[in-house]
Amino acid sequence: MRAEEVMERLWATEALLDGHFVLTSGLHSGRYIQCARLLQYPEHAEAVGRALAERVRDLQPAAVVGPALGGILVAHELARALGVRALFAEREGEKLALRRGFSLTPGERVVIAEDVVTTGGSTLETAEVVTAQGGVVVAGASIVDRRGPQAKDLPFPLFPLLRLEVPTYPPEACPWCRDGIPLTKPGSRPRV
Ligand SMILES: [Zn+2]
Repeated sequence: MRAEEVMERLWATEALLDGHFVLTSGLHSGRYIQCARLLQYPEHAEAVGRALAERVRDLQPAAVVGPALGGILVAHELARALGVRALFAEREGEKLALRRGFSLTPGERVVIAEDVVTTGGSTLETAEVVTAQGGVVVAGASIVDRRGPQAKDLPFPLFPLLRLEVPTYPPEACPWCRDGIPLTKPGSRPRV
């Protein structure tokens, strides 16, 4: 699946919106990504899972692990395409953990699945959970890679379907605020 097709699917499902948004960080952005809107359609979820599988199959992963919540569906669809298990890591207090009786066998080859990689923080934390269980992280896989210069270095390759630059600004430096464009809260529809 080419990046253009991923963009088309994101636009078509309003998983990608242009406008003037305030993010949970308090920063403003001209673009908003919510992959759950894409993944609500099983045919899109299946298609991105198959496309990610093409990128990581040669690494012969035996399991896919995604951080809750954003990574669960991506992990599941990628694992389905690969014919392997899908697990998820979730918060246990402050830290991510494998709960629900999930376990990995020592040396098991694992791909970390995400919807969007922004800072790399949750990808890295999920990888640490896998490594602590004796698993070997061979790659990360995500629908979107929107890492900027502040992102953490990952000690394994990341295979995204799409790389997107999403500049963010503090309100006082926001070009859309300066132009008087109405602000949209994520989750609500943008004003066109
Ligand atoms: Zn603004």
